[in-house]
Amino acid sequence: MHESTGSQRDAASTIFNLPNYRVIDAVDLPDGGRRVVIASTVPPGCPSCGVLATKVHSRRSQQVRDVPVAGAAVVVWAKRRWFCLEPACARGTFAEATEQIPRYARSTTRLRDQVVSAVIRSGRAASEVARAHGVSWWLVQAALSAAAVVLPDVDDVRVRRLGVDEHRYRSVRWFRTDEGAWRRFEPWMTTLVDLATGQVLGIVDGRDSRAVGDWLAQRSEQWRERIEIVAIDPSAAFRKALRTWLPRAAVSVDKFHLVKLGNDMVTTVRQRLARTHRGRRGRKDDPAWAHRMLLLRGGDTLTPRAWERLERVFRTDDPTDELSASWGIKEQLRRLLATDTLAQAWQERMRMGYFVQIANMPEATKLYDTVVTWWDAIEVLIVTGATTAKVEAGNTGIKNIKRTGRGFRNAENYRTRILLTSAARTVA
Ligand SMILES: [Zn+2]
Repeated sequence: MHESTGSQRDAASTIFNLPNYRVIDAVDLPDGGRRVVIASTVPPGCPSCGVLATKVHSRRSQQVRDVPVAGAAVVVWAKRRWFCLEPACARGTFAEATEQIPRYARSTTRLRDQVVSAVIRSGRAASEVARAHGVSWWLVQAALSAAAVVLPDVDDVRVRRLGVDEHRYRSVRWFRTDEGAWRRFEPWMTTLVDLATGQVLGIVDGRDSRAVGDWLAQRSEQWRERIEIVAIDPSAAFRKALRTWLPRAAVSVDKFHLVKLGNDMVTTVRQRLARTHRGRRGRKDDPAWAHRMLLLRGGDTLTPRAWERLERVFRTDDPTDELSASWGIKEQLRRLLATDTLAQAWQERMRMGYFVQIANMPEATKLYDTVVTWWDAIEVLIVTGATTAKVEAGNTGIKNIKRTGRGFRNAENYRTRILLTSAARTVA
């Protein structure tokens, strides 16, 4: 054993462990709580001239919210006000301020850090974290907003592949206008993501060209010129903004969204068949309905048992063979998207067109038309592999935020949460 060379604090201060403070008094309260009185150990430098003060002007007790230290405690800072004796300095007196308790703060930095981390890393709702820490919702929200301010500047991130994805951040609402008419309000937001890291760079209101265009317009010309590829979903309403602001970037269509269009087509066909053959919606004793999720899984991921179930559905619940045809076309689209050369992609596209023609179903024709319309962007996808898969991962996070936040009323709070969560995920 050898002597510790660390600085020696008194036991209470070491246990309380608030940097730059020492415990000067601790009292057990009649109700079972404790009151801990602390004092700053930081040399009192004048905020105007920097000269150290030596003469105390006054003292007052300020209650401070802090993390629980072996249980909750009432923390009181014996805060001093000092005279600045520097003759050249105009400031007469100043109050102490520290890193842990800056000017005007009513809570410690370590408490604010802890609630931010509880919300962001564990994905808990702000209200729940507030309750667990015995603080107000406002304190948690203010800490989150303050943390968002110090996020890395988007303009310092060198982005070559940009993902743009829209999502609805709360459900459709109806509002009554001044004239008494009802107006549908769809609160959409568009997320802009660095495809290399998945980091959310920005979130804009709406999902139209102006929303995305305004965001791009705020970036520098060099920033925009660095963008080589933009991945979007095939229904994107903001294509015009990309043509205006990123005219040289290649547009790639997102694979995930295309696969989803294929799945939606299968579901639409299944629902139409149930209506025409049974005159009602599907229910759980209908094989096609019972296995509706199985129909949407990739054929290449099915186990022998799953294949057996799928074939039984087609044998027993597909009298017109339309369900199996739609399934085959969906699978053909997935094969197309899995190719790595333009020649292969073209070949699979021709095959898909052939299947669609034979099937002769409006749902399949519509899907094929989308493939044809977006073919240039699909080629960019095949060649570059640029897909918003990471945006989707980000959006999964967004969905979790929505769920835990139980519906954000305030779009700004929502934006803050998404940016912070994304930044935490990117660093991790
Ligand atoms: Zn001074």
